[in-house]
This record gives sequence, structure tokens and C-alpha cells, in this order.
Amino acid sequence: MTIDLRSDTVTKPTEAMLERMRTAELGDDSRDGDPTVMALEALAAERTGKEAGLFVASGTMGNLVALLAHADRGGEVLCDTGIHMLRSEMGGIASIAGLFFRTLPARRGAVDLDALADALHSRLTPSRLATGLVWMETSHNDAGGAVLPLEHMKAVRALADDHGAPVHVDGARLFNAACALGVEAKAIADHADSLMFCISKGLSAPIGSLLVGSRDFITRARAFRRMVGGAMRQAGIIAAAGIVALEEMTGRLAEDHRMAKRLARGLAAIDGSLTDPALAETNIVRIDVAASERDADQWTRALAARGVLAGAWTSRQIRCVTHRHTGPAEIEKAIAAFAETWRDFNTAPSR
Ligand SMILES: *Cc1c(COP(=O)(O)O)cnc(C)c1O
Repeated sequence: MTIDLRSDTVTKPTEAMLERMRTAELGDDSRDGDPTVMALEALAAERTGKEAGLFVASGTMGNLVALLAHADRGGEVLCDTGIHMLRSEMGGIASIAGLFFRTLPARRGAVDLDALADALHSRLTPSRLATGLVWMETSHNDAGGAVLPLEHMKAVRALADDHGAPVHVDGARLFNAACALGVEAKAIADHADSLMFCISKGLSAPIGSLLVGSRDFITRARAFRRMVGGAMRQAGIIAAAGIVALEEMTGRLAEDHRMAKRLARGLAAIDGSLTDPALAETNIVRIDVAASERDADQWTRALAARGVLAGAWTSRQIRCVTHRHTGPAEIEKAIAAFAETWRDFNTAPSR
């Protein structure tokens, strides 16, 4: 059996999800409304302490309609360089939303607060754009699953408030972040005007994400969702799985985090240069293979030959993500595959 550590998006729907999908009450989401979609949106709003929710096809779509609904064209979005929206969302911020972004120095996804204070600008002036939006991501994918401290989020929100700028949080893995902090998701969402989270990742639903915020914001976002082709008709069939994801699947994420720690410790025991277990805060482990004098692609090919799939994140770094299908047995096998690969690469000349 292949052990797939490329992403938590590979998790398959549970039996309870399939059953709920089969029996879901359906309607036309962009006509009279789909009752199951409405139930999921209400549940998402409740879990995050927001007024309203919007079911979207993907995290990328949720982030895009958030940009469209928050900021006027020509505004500036303040963020760190590593965010998913800039790395992997095809430039929708510029080509569709017509926004400019300014990246700020950051440590493990947390922007420098002095730099943020300097960059915030309340109004358009002859020489500077107005801040349209402040963006945070938690857990932070490119920062190896790092979780933003609540104090940091609070400070960012306070600075943004001083300048009348809304705050959006990309919480694709919101429940992983909440689990790591030992708080309810709401405690994170409290520091955001809007927030997106995915049900399609570690929560095991097949498709979809939720955008939450104020009633007015969600009304605007709903219109933009239609503009980008996201009004999905009888979407209750997939929303049904999302309801089960929120009801039943958030409580088990601590297990994924334990497995990530176990993986990180096993890899650090092979060689200390591979990873620092202290940095595996959630379900993501970043591995640096530079000391082996092989690149990440050579590593992922060698691991795949041993039945372990991992993703090359950069030329020298690999990303592994733990999830519902990677229990203790899978993690032990993955560690063994890394150990064998390390041994092979260190006994054979590098090219
Ligand atoms: C996966 C992810 C997204 C996008 O979600 P998709 O459903 O793949 O479009 C956005 N932000 C972060 C941090 C992610 O990890």
C-alpha cells in the first residue's frame, strides 16, 4: 500500500459522509436555496462566531471572492511573501480583483508589526495607495504548518482597525491551528473580519471551503461567487459531507499532529539536518535534504520507489502532511523509507 504524505487533501470521505450525501435534502442554491448548503453555511458561521457563511468550491475561490468583496480595485493588500494566495492561486489578486499587494518581512508567517504599522495607509493620497486589506494565514502552509499566536493576530487586527482596513484570514487549516493552540476556532476567527477554511483537507470532505464574515460582507461575496462561476445548484450533495466534517472530524486532528511529531522525531534521529521536530506544530513536516547532496526531486523519486509519496516544496525541501490515512504503522514505514534513502544516498557518490 502506498503511503501518501503529499497532502491532507487526499483524505477520502468517511462512511458517515457518504451516507449523509445520499440522503441530503437538495434544492437549487442559486434559485430558492439548497437547504443542506444553508445548514452548512449556518454551522460554519456558528463555529467561527460570525454572522454568515458562504459555501464555495475551493479555498482559492473563497480567497478570491473575499478579495473582491473587501477591497476596491487599486487598493493595496498587506501580507507576507509566503502566503498560499501569492504562491498558488494564479495571480487572481491582480488579474481578477485588480489589487496590488505589498509583502512585509515575517517570521514563521507572522509579519513584523513595525513594518505593518509603516505600511498601513488609510486613504489614497497623491503618492500612496490606500490599504484595502490585511491578510494573514494560519496554519501557515509555507512556514511548515506554523500557527500564528493569538497575541500576534490581535495586534495585527488592532493596527488594521486603526487604519480602517479589514482583515482576512486564510484559515484553510483553521481547525489544525485551533487544535494546536488548544482553543475553539472562534478564538482565531475573532481576530478576522472574514475567514476562509477548507473542509476538503484534513477534515476528509471531498470538496469545498467556507467563507465567513458579517452578513453584509457575505451578501457581497455571494454576488462575486456567482461572477466567478461558483453558484453550484444542488450543492447540498457535497455540503452534506461538510456538515459531517464539522460535526465529527475536527476532534481527531490532534492525532494527525501527534503523527507529524513522530515523523519529525524519526527523521531527526536519522540525521539532525533533516528537520527540527520543534517546528512541526501541526500536521506538516518540512524536511531539508541539502546535506545529502541530492535535490528534493531525487528524494521524492527514491521515496516513491519505496511506496512513500512526498512533495518537493523547493529544490532542497520536501513537505510531508499527515492525515486520517497515516496512522502509526504508516509513519513507521515512512521513517524507514527515509532512512533507507538516506543510507543509499550517503553510500553512493552523488552524480
Ligand atoms: C489548500 C490551501 C488553499 C486553497 O485551497 P484549494 O481548495 O486548494 O483551492 C488556500 N490556502 C491555504 C493555506 C491552503 O493550504
